[in-house]
Amino acid sequence: MRCIGVLTSGGDNPGLNACIRSVVRMGLGMGLEVMGIRRGYAGLIDGEIDEMDSRSVSGIIGRGGTMLGTARCPEFHEERGRKQALRSLNRFGIDGLVVIGGNGSLTGALELGRLGFPVIGVPSTIDNDVNGTDIALGVDTALNTIVDAIDKIKDTASSHNRAFLIEVMGRNSGYLALASGLAGGAELVLCPEFETPLETIAQTIEDDYVRGKSHAIIIVAEGWKPGTLKLAQQLNEHPDSVGFSVRVTQLGHVQRGGSASAFDRILATRLGASAVRELVAGNGGHMVGWVRSEATLTPLEEAVAFTKTLDPRLVKLNQIMAQ
Ligand code: ADP
Repeated sequence: MRCIGVLTSGGDNPGLNACIRSVVRMGLGMGLEVMGIRRGYAGLIDGEIDEMDSRSVSGIIGRGGTMLGTARCPEFHEERGRKQALRSLNRFGIDGLVVIGGNGSLTGALELGRLGFPVIGVPSTIDNDVNGTDIALGVDTALNTIVDAIDKIKDTASSHNRAFLIEVMGRNSGYLALASGLAGGAELVLCPEFETPLETIAQTIEDDYVRGKSHAIIIVAEGWKPGTLKLAQQLNEHPDSVGFSVRVTQLGHVQRGGSASAFDRILATRLGASAVRELVAGNGGHMVGWVRSEATLTPLEEAVAFTKTLDPRLVKLNQIMAQ
């Protein structure tokens, strides 16, 4: 292998730049040429590709976003689009590719690999739902952002004796909600993975009030149905939600930005470096994930076969801690 490419695709997060830097520097360190592909698969199809050197990734280890840009690319769902991508890879002399992204991007990587091109995936999504990694890039930073917000909201919630519904990201995954609920000491966590009836939610808030709590913090995953705003309306109309008045904060895209945590920087550096080594070792068709504190290979096919579910032990622990 003489020349490798790197791209970031799908949802962004603050771990991406550190991973790009790691791929570039490990590639150069192994005597390879490294090409940066802009705007994910869209830039790959359009040939938006530039050679990277060590200085092109200076000063980015902690910076949020992605210096290469990211995009969603409908054409890549079709074989025709993927063949155009292959043409670009050939034109630029790239003979191995590192794809940094979530489930969708990794599925794209698998499909490209099926056309015979060596691809290694690195899991990167704040949803933390990729199979074959304990934690994906960006999760730790997003969690820290959420916990910081919870702490701040608690201050004001206590002053006014309010219940706050704090909506966090995660698409169909409740991981961020559950983990931030644990770290932020929330009274209740609502995840799409399990049902929580309105009666239970209203009763929990009332019990918290009666037991003398000064506030109630309820973390709501964005994929939870019927949704945060609807829940707030139902609670404010509910006869049992006495005591606390209910307010809503939707944290939104602040969860995707900011300076990367030390953990994310190290994770991104280790997984990026490992991806290059595995590509050179001929292990295309795999994802490099983080399993029991080690960079670990999982076939891409397995990584995207299903999304990871919540650990029931964490769900139980959260319930105990919220008493
Ligand atoms: P994420 O990688 O964060 O899950 P998306 O699901 O939006 O984000 O996927 C990012 C991109 O990956 C898509 O725009 C598309 O180009 C590619 N992709 C997603 N799913 C597939 C698929 N089944 N086959 C081929 N490419 C895909």
